[in-house]
Amino acid sequence: MIYFRAHNDIHCIISYIVFHKLIIDEMLDSQTINQPELAVPDLPIIELRRLSKSYHTPAGAIPALRGLDLSVTAGEFLAVVGKSGAGKSTLVNMVTGIDRPDSGDICIAGTELHHLSEDDRARWRGLNLGVVFQFFQLLPSISLIKNVTIPMEFCGVYAPKERRERALHILEQVGLAEHVHKRPSEISGGQQQRVAIARALANDPPILVADEPTGNLDSRTSDEIMDVFAGMVEQGKTLLIVTHDRGVARRATRQVRIVDGLIEQD
Ligand code: ADP
Repeated sequence: MIYFRAHNDIHCIISYIVFHKLIIDEMLDSQTINQPELAVPDLPIIELRRLSKSYHTPAGAIPALRGLDLSVTAGEFLAVVGKSGAGKSTLVNMVTGIDRPDSGDICIAGTELHHLSEDDRARWRGLNLGVVFQFFQLLPSISLIKNVTIPMEFCGVYAPKERRERALHILEQVGLAEHVHKRPSEISGGQQQRVAIARALANDPPILVADEPTGNLDSRTSDEIMDVFAGMVEQGKTLLIVTHDRGVARRATRQVRIVDGLIEQD
């Protein structure tokens, strides 16, 4: 009997310690998060200097970026156009910190990205950048609202109670108020891309990066998605969009062309 009571007590104490450790970890996490710096209009928010990147294959090195320079001002709506193989996806991977350059500097929203470890880059990305992909990349087995709360949970921003409300608000902003409890497979491609934009906005990052966001949509839906993006720029976001679609690029306020890993026209 005494053994059982002692055994239970130990379990209680362990549970108590684990529970409090979780709470303390959460508090420490939320204290050590570096909130994104506020974007200052007319100052560069994205600075890429002499960026080089090659892929090493058994057949040899394939250069993708060859000393690329690019500066994007806060609040700008920039389209990067270029043919297939020009280096657009590699550029997106550099700006989002998904991959590292062989050489060169990447300074985004005041952070020298190339100096961060992989874990720090993931955390930094969650707070500073919203990324939108061609194929939406939503989690299929959970509701739209849950898809949008996940980045907040990952970065530990906003109080847990606030997250759901915030996700609802953003989904309303992109015109999906009536669908928030559906799963991605229950809505159209255009609506899925709206969810992806809502997810990108979850942590209120200063910058949005979109990689061929209309590449999987018909032209009318494309226009609607570009309207959503234009609205975000009006609200002060900086938008870098990579596209091979001239119509999409024309919606931007600035266009640059990437050719063989270099910015050719600005
Ligand atoms: P884009 O997005 O404009 O089509 P990419 O950045 O994907 O261009 O590719 C730039 C160059 O790098 C191309 O020559 C491409 O074949 C090459 N490349 C891209 N990714 C890889 C990889 N993982 N391995 C080998 N070569 C790659």
